[in-house]
Amino acid sequence: MSDNAPSLEFLGAARSVTGSKFLARTKKSQVLFECGMFQGLKELRRRNWEKFPMNPSELEAVVLTHAHIDHSGLVPRLTKMGYTGPIYCTPASTELLGLLLPDAGYLQEEEARYANKKGYSRHEPALPLYTREDAQESLKQLKTLDYGKPLEIADGVTITFHPSGHILGSGFVEADIGERRVVISGDIGSYDREVMAAPSDLPGADYVLVESTYGGRSIVSRPVQEQLRERIAPVLDAGGVVVIPAFAIGRTTLVLYHLRKLQERGEIPDVPVYVDSPMATDAVDIYIRYGLEHNLKLDLLRSSNDCPIRAKTMRLIKRVEESKELHGKSGPMIILSASGMIAGGRILHHLKNRGGDPKNLILLVGYQAVGTRGRKLIEGGREIKMFGETHKIRAQVASIQGLSAHGDADDVLRWLGTAKSKPKKAFLVHGEDEGLKAMGERVGAELHWKHHTPHYLEKVYL
Ligand SMILES: [Zn+2]
Repeated sequence: MSDNAPSLEFLGAARSVTGSKFLARTKKSQVLFECGMFQGLKELRRRNWEKFPMNPSELEAVVLTHAHIDHSGLVPRLTKMGYTGPIYCTPASTELLGLLLPDAGYLQEEEARYANKKGYSRHEPALPLYTREDAQESLKQLKTLDYGKPLEIADGVTITFHPSGHILGSGFVEADIGERRVVISGDIGSYDREVMAAPSDLPGADYVLVESTYGGRSIVSRPVQEQLRERIAPVLDAGGVVVIPAFAIGRTTLVLYHLRKLQERGEIPDVPVYVDSPMATDAVDIYIRYGLEHNLKLDLLRSSNDCPIRAKTMRLIKRVEESKELHGKSGPMIILSASGMIAGGRILHHLKNRGGDPKNLILLVGYQAVGTRGRKLIEGGREIKMFGETHKIRAQVASIQGLSAHGDADDVLRWLGTAKSKPKKAFLVHGEDEGLKAMGERVGAELHWKHHTPHYLEKVYL
């Protein structure tokens, strides 16, 4: 340890799964890896409002592993607070951020507006963390960098992105920081996927930051389509509405892919499938443009009849008025609407509208962080607070395993096992306490790597 050694500060995703932010300092420069938003518990979300632990105007570069909000969602706040430099990410990430960040700004404006209208905020008046316009403005600072191309982004800091198989554009970062090589995993995908390609091998590094979302758990799930059919078919047959809180584009695409397969085999009826989100976009074009990052066949993607990631009877709902019209329609039908953990967005209105009827089904399709409404539902809670009021949920609630864009512990261990050399240490990030502990045990026992689980705001010298 010396003043000359580069340092790393864990400004988020340290003993939590959200708010990813790692500050690297060398003698000459400061670079921020990830700029994620904290989500879930109120005490975590409050951190989004705090002053950044560094002066944004002194940063030389920002690097994003992928477009998910828990890795990128505070970018507009960082730029608003004075960061004017480049924000590096892959080409597909740039496109996805162009949709996700303005949408995040819009959601916050909407929430603040609603809170002010109903007067339930403790702040007077309620303010958005940033606006759609702030987000749009921040996009101007994005700089794209292709996979496998090293680039010196600051004095003494060179980065290379490698595919991580999580979502389109996701890349783990190989970063030379001063004399040290550090790999920042971002989120790692699975090795066994129908849609996304597998992660690339891990280069040799002195330190590896490892995501631990699934902790030590192996997810052995029954085939996704089987689970979906079992849950969905009876509800549709009875004329009910299936409400699926949808995550960003990647997961929505995956759900549509499986629904399509079930429709093609006649295992669920061809009911209307509404994708209701202000950023509802036809993901097909994006998947065609980034054909190397996934396993889907391009000629099928281009076919209007057989496109594998469009449900047969699908409609994209963009405008609020169209979304409201859905409330008056009766089943059977399927509605996908953001956000996936029911933290905000139009899904709240659908839940309010459909949640009281036992004929309907709320189907959760991904990880539900502590403190979210989705987590509460999964744990059996049936009184959900929305818009400052408590609503009783009488609809059925179920969750589907195996749709996460994250690999499970076996995938992460397999990925770590591809390392060309053993690192000095692994830092376990992006997990909740139990998961981090379990991941640490496996990293120690199976790979014989030293590991450490940093606390929020901890600083280590490399
Ligand atoms: Zn992610």
